[in-house]
Amino acid sequence: MDTSIKARFAAEALDVLAHYLEIPCLSPAYDPEWATAGHLDRAVELLANWAEDRPIRGIRVDVHRLKSRTPVLICEIPSSDPEATATVMLYGHFDKQPPLGNWSPGLDPFRPTLRGDRLYGRGSADDGYSLFASLLAVESLEKAGLKHPRCVVLIEGSEESASPDLEAHLDALAERLDGTDLLVCLDSGAPTFDRLWLTQSLRGNAVVTVDVRVLERGVHSGTASGVVPSPFRVLRQILNRLEDPYTGEVLLPALSAQPPVDQVRRLEDLASELGDVVASQLPVLGGVELAGDCPAERLLRQAWRPAMSVIGIDGMPSVSDGGNVVHAGVTANLSFRLPPSVDAAAATASIVDALEQAPPSGAKVTVTAHPPASGWSCPPLAPWLLEALDEASTAAFGRKAGWTSEGGTIPFLATLGKRFPGVQVVATGVLGPGSNAHSIDESLHIPTAESVTLSVAHLLEAHADISKRPPIAESD
Ligand SMILES: [Zn+2]
Repeated sequence: MDTSIKARFAAEALDVLAHYLEIPCLSPAYDPEWATAGHLDRAVELLANWAEDRPIRGIRVDVHRLKSRTPVLICEIPSSDPEATATVMLYGHFDKQPPLGNWSPGLDPFRPTLRGDRLYGRGSADDGYSLFASLLAVESLEKAGLKHPRCVVLIEGSEESASPDLEAHLDALAERLDGTDLLVCLDSGAPTFDRLWLTQSLRGNAVVTVDVRVLERGVHSGTASGVVPSPFRVLRQILNRLEDPYTGEVLLPALSAQPPVDQVRRLEDLASELGDVVASQLPVLGGVELAGDCPAERLLRQAWRPAMSVIGIDGMPSVSDGGNVVHAGVTANLSFRLPPSVDAAAATASIVDALEQAPPSGAKVTVTAHPPASGWSCPPLAPWLLEALDEASTAAFGRKAGWTSEGGTIPFLATLGKRFPGVQVVATGVLGPGSNAHSIDESLHIPTAESVTLSVAHLLEAHADISKRPPIAESD
C-alpha cells in the first residue's frame, strides 16, 4: 500500500485540486455576496463529483444544504467489517482566505502553479487537500484488501469565518455522525515536513471593535487641540487597561491560564531539537528584540500566552491626506489570542467591561464584540492511539510522530470537543515551512500531502483493528 498510495495522490488528486484552486471560493466573511456569486457552490460541487467517482464500496456523497448557510460536503463510508459500528470522522474545509495582497511574480492565488514539489494557489494546503487525503486513504486500504472503520468525511464551507454554519449542519447531521469515537482534523500545522505532526493545543480568539467619539465633526487643531481630548489619546488610555504598553503583557486575569506540564515538556523537547522555530519563521527586522528569553519560552508564549493586536483602524486619514485636525473620533479593531483553556465568551465579556467602564474625559466609548472562538487543549490520547500514530508516522515519513502547538485558532475543535466529550481528537495537517496559509504564495508541499494521506490510512487500519477488541472495562 505504502508506495502506491503516494502515487495515487499524484494521479488521482492533483488535477481536480488544481481546478479547485481556480475557484475564488472565499469564506463568507470575505465574500458577503457568496450566495449569489456561487463560487462556494461551484467548489463543493467539483469536490462532490470527484468524491462520487471514487471506487469506494458503499460510499454515499451528499452536499448538505441549509437555508442561508454555506453547504457542507459529507461522505459516508461503511466499515469493511459489517459488525463494527465505531466511526472515524475526518474533517476539512473548502472555503478559502482572500489573496491578501500581490503574489510573487509567476504566482497567482487563483491560477494553480506547479513548481518543483509544490502546488501553489489559495486553498491548496488550507485546506483543499483534505478531502483528497481522506478518501484516497480509504480507497488505498480497500485496494490493498485491508480493513477500515466506518468513516464520515465532513468538509465544511465556513471555517475561515470561524465556522458560523457548522453547528447547524452538525445538528441536522447528528444521526449520521453517531458512533464517532475518533476525529481526525486535517487543517493544522507542521513545523517540519519530516514526520506526522500532532497539534496538542490551539489558542482561542476574541475580537472587539472599540469606537471613541469626542466631537460632532473634526476641528482645526489650532482651535481644538489642548482643549478637546484627542480621541487617539483616549483610545491609548483604555487600551492600557488591557495590556501593559511597555511589555505587551495582557493584564486581564480572565485571559490567563496555565499550560499542562506535559505540553510544556513537549514544547521544550521541540525547542531543543529544532531550535528557535518561532523566531526563524518571522520576517523580523535586524535589531528588533523578541519577547521570550529562549526558544522554548517563545514556543510557550506562542501557544499559551494571551496577546492583543490592533488589526484595523478607522477615523484617521492616510498620512498623505492628513491635515492639522483634531478628529471627531477613532475606531479600532482589537484581536486577542487566548490561552487554549480560556473560555472565549467570558474573556470577551471581560474585555468589553474593561473598555467601557469610566470613559476617560467623558468621551463616548462604544464597544462591539464579535463572535468569540475558544481555543483547544488536546485531552490525553488512549495508548493504542498514541502507538498507532507513531506507527503511521514511521510508515509514512520514516520517524515517529511529533507534538506541537499552534498559536492560531480552529474554532471547530472547541465546538466538537463540547459536542462529543468522549471523542479522541487527532489534529494534524500539511501547513509547514513555506505553506504560507492566509498569506501570499500559499502552496501545498505535495510529498507531505502524500505522506499525510498514507498516515491517515495507517491510522484507519489501526482503528479498524482496535474496534474489534472488546471494550476495556473502566477501572476505578
Ligand atoms: Zn484551514
